[in-house]
Amino acid sequence: MKYLAEYRAPEVVEGYLREIRKTVTRPWTIMEVCGGQTHSLVKNGLLNLLPPEVQMIHGPGCPVCVTPLHLIDKAVFLAQERGVILCSFGDMIRVPGSRRSLLEAKAAGADVRILYSPLEAVKLAQENPNREVVFFAVGFETTAPANALSVQYARQLGLTNYSILASHVLVPPAIQAVMADPETHIQGFLAAGHVCTIMGLDQYAPLAAQYGVPVVVTGFEPADLLHGILLTLKQLENGECRLDNQYTRVVKPEGNPQARQVIDQVFEVVDREWRGVGVIPQSGWDVRPELAAFNANLKFEVPQQRAAECPDCIAGQVLKGIKKPHQCSQFGTRCTPLNPLGAPMVSSEGACAAYYHYAQASLAVAEVG
Ligand code: SF4
Repeated sequence: MKYLAEYRAPEVVEGYLREIRKTVTRPWTIMEVCGGQTHSLVKNGLLNLLPPEVQMIHGPGCPVCVTPLHLIDKAVFLAQERGVILCSFGDMIRVPGSRRSLLEAKAAGADVRILYSPLEAVKLAQENPNREVVFFAVGFETTAPANALSVQYARQLGLTNYSILASHVLVPPAIQAVMADPETHIQGFLAAGHVCTIMGLDQYAPLAAQYGVPVVVTGFEPADLLHGILLTLKQLENGECRLDNQYTRVVKPEGNPQARQVIDQVFEVVDREWRGVGVIPQSGWDVRPELAAFNANLKFEVPQQRAAECPDCIAGQVLKGIKKPHQCSQFGTRCTPLNPLGAPMVSSEGACAAYYHYAQASLAVAEVG
């Protein structure tokens, strides 16, 4: 297949579904790690098309959803109280902090800007030498190369008014955390194709071996997802547990060496707090100490405050795949995309928002499950 439309073609999707129905003989529970995969599964109605034996559990792979509340509060504080130009990708600015979101801070007069690239933030710093510019660097391994490049570029330009507020999270430790949770019952994983495009495959084979689960690196189109599910089911039915790569048209075993090099030059691995999950050891990246001048976390003193989560929000259980969004008592009533109580209802990749926007298909499946 050559064109994107071919990965959405009904006859291709139907072919994979036929194979899946032929393959599956008993119940299996598979987690798609990435929020983009969740969104595609729900939006395209694929959950309704799978045989009832196949339960898909939605994983923690939405970086906006797992950014801790206190970091959002810090970004709001920098924009409101320190007068910085706070730059961010669009999704992040709607996520509620403990008192307000970046969008509400913007409405109240703070200089918050939505950008498509951190390099635009470097340009802003060049154009505003008397203002501090902070880029809210949120994301998995996918966005890290561009964020790292922005630091290198700012350094090259000799800028002293640019820094990043890093909240990078890593997928393999998240899979480990899910598997270590005694409540989990995941039997196979669809790993995130775009993450492996950068990082390659070498971290995933050991996970498959350690936990005795198939891990299939999978893309995002309907045909990709069903193919990934089929490959996982074939392993499960045969009692196998290895790494497969469904997304071969994009993912090379070595990933993208140039991107990995830039990441290594700018970031170091650190323990990271995941909203709703807690601290996962060695699960994030922060700016290396030698580049501390570009680390907004160190550059600005911010009053320490531990904000409390909304007590009715069960985002942690949703992110770990223990509960589905509609099983939250607040889903669709007090909590909606216009009035979100937790991050998974805000981000376009959040499981709660995906269920809300495409509710009919999802809830029909949920009732069956
Ligand atoms: S529906 Fe809302 S309150 Fe419930 S888990 Fe999702 S984000 Fe939290």
